[in-house]
Amino acid sequence: MTEAKHQTGLVDRYQRHISYLRLSVTDRCDLRCQYCMPERMQFLPKAEILSLEEVYRMALGFMARGITKIRLTGGEPLVRRDVIDLVRTLGRHIGQELEELTLTTNGTQLSEMADDLAAAGIRRINVSLDSLDQQKFAKLTRRDRLEQVLEGLQAAKAAGLRVKINTVAMKDFNEGEIASLIAWAHGEGFDLTLIEVMPLGEVDGDRVDHFVPLTAVIERLEKSWTMAPSGHVTGGPARYFDITETGGRLGVISPLTNNFCAGCNRIRVTATGQLYPCLGGGEQVDLRAALRSDDPDENLSAALDEAMRIKPERHFFDISQRGAEPAQPRHMSVTGG
Ligand code: SAM
Ligand code: SF4
Repeated sequence: MTEAKHQTGLVDRYQRHISYLRLSVTDRCDLRCQYCMPERMQFLPKAEILSLEEVYRMALGFMARGITKIRLTGGEPLVRRDVIDLVRTLGRHIGQELEELTLTTNGTQLSEMADDLAAAGIRRINVSLDSLDQQKFAKLTRRDRLEQVLEGLQAAKAAGLRVKINTVAMKDFNEGEIASLIAWAHGEGFDLTLIEVMPLGEVDGDRVDHFVPLTAVIERLEKSWTMAPSGHVTGGPARYFDITETGGRLGVISPLTNNFCAGCNRIRVTATGQLYPCLGGGEQVDLRAALRSDDPDENLSAALDEAMRIKPERHFFDISQRGAEPAQPRHMSVTGG
């Protein structure tokens, strides 16, 4: 690293301290979840994707500015060839600059990769799973891979990884299965977090037909379960409930019905090195240009200062109008969900 003029941590105009980076290593995926992307998704040109060396150099720049937690995501991070090399290299910083290195995955590659992830220092992963019914899973993801995901989850468990299941609530699709998904997850020793569908990128179909407010889902769960608001705090957007009957914890991420932007501590970078300070905003900083400039470390740090200047106060998600444009044309799989 050069003698930096920007030694301070990352703080935005609203005095939010940014310590968490979600880093997309690819926008490609082996599934096609209906709420995430269309069947014929236009992926970013491979030539524009950062090399692993560039991703690592960029991550060093973030760590020098006080980023203590990195989550690798995508797209599906585990479909990127050699991603494990990046995990190993970043893993060496755990316990130094990094408090934690984590990963969000759809789980299809976990049976082969769980041991390597654990050996590289990853302790916790998020696995997205929206249905335990083979046909529904195949319909939602447009790929028949439930069995692979379930095998992957067992491999993760055997490797000693702590697992949190992420479940997007979809109207008329998995609404009726949410209680059994939670009971199953808690029975397996996994936490589970429910997520509201967000209007990011065009998909086949209308978001109005997908969206179910989690307030309604929680009300329904409370009819059969004792759900106590939990003291558990992570600094993230989820609120938590402890469920007496399952003995487990339920997280709720509800960007539409309960805005949480005031406590935002994160930024996101795409696989092409574009930094988006807000998932729901169009503000953007080109880190690839900084990385490929004459003075990458200095220019990267200056780009992070710029990101702090332009990070918006909040997103304005709305799924109430049929036929409405998405809040952002970028899919979650591009920005790094
Ligand atoms: N492929 C990995 C996975 O599915 O976990 C990582 C990337 S994926 C974009 C990250 C998370 O974003 C997943 O939990 C997925 O369910 C969620 N997601 C994708 N599109 C979404 C949308 N439009 N609204 C809400 N959640 C979404
Ligand atoms: Fe792929 Fe994850 Fe998007 Fe599903 S949610 S299509 S697994 S990137």
